[in-house]
Amino acid sequence: MEQLLTLIFFLFGLIFGSFFNVVGLRVPEGESIVLPPSRCRSCGARLRPADLIPVLSYLFSKGACRHCHAKISPLYPAVEGLTGLAFALVYQVYGWSGETAAGLLFVSVLAIISVSDLAYRLIPDKITLPAWGLFLLLRWWIHPAEPYGLHLLAMAVGFGVFFLLTVLSRGGVGGGDIKLFAVVGLFLGLRLLVLAIFLSALLGTIYGIGLILLRGAGRKTQVPFGPFIAAGSFLAYVAGDGLIRWYVEWFL
Ligand SMILES: [Zn+2]
Repeated sequence: MEQLLTLIFFLFGLIFGSFFNVVGLRVPEGESIVLPPSRCRSCGARLRPADLIPVLSYLFSKGACRHCHAKISPLYPAVEGLTGLAFALVYQVYGWSGETAAGLLFVSVLAIISVSDLAYRLIPDKITLPAWGLFLLLRWWIHPAEPYGLHLLAMAVGFGVFFLLTVLSRGGVGGGDIKLFAVVGLFLGLRLLVLAIFLSALLGTIYGIGLILLRGAGRKTQVPFGPFIAAGSFLAYVAGDGLIRWYVEWFL
């Protein structure tokens, strides 16, 4: 039963991941997320139901449009697959609980902003600002680790620290990143926010060093930070307590 439910969460994650691709690509353009139906972004051919099966459509079409043979971004199946895994993992960690429902909403926000940031280098306010309201209410009902006040404080810290960084670095960190860290703080609380910031910076740095080594990219190369914030925050959410315990045992 447990495995079956995990599989169901995974499959729902695939389908929602496909929807998050649409939301993440359309919201920054001010388009409706319902209409028109999905089309090839290159030739405009309307996608058939068979083209809308998460991950599999991409594999069967070998990553190209059936009409114009334009390459389809591997971003689509990647977001679908990762959302599937994230949904299954949230269920594995938090079980059949209110926290799992909250966790799925958190994953949804992280997935959508990652798509927008990768496609447009932009984390839309239309996603982060409603997320503030949503998680303010959610954390009032469901507060797993810390008192509500610490979640509010974490929101202020997430916003404040990165606002300062932006001012000091003269725009090295984007405004969207600041608002996103406020969302993450509000949702995770203070302790896990600190870990999320650390993990995001670590993942971003590893990726950056990898780019420099592989491609000889210069310091000017712009890498969207949103997906790293998303990955770091998700890791902190599902494995944070274990990671903190491990760190304390080994290094302190
Ligand atoms: Zn096409």
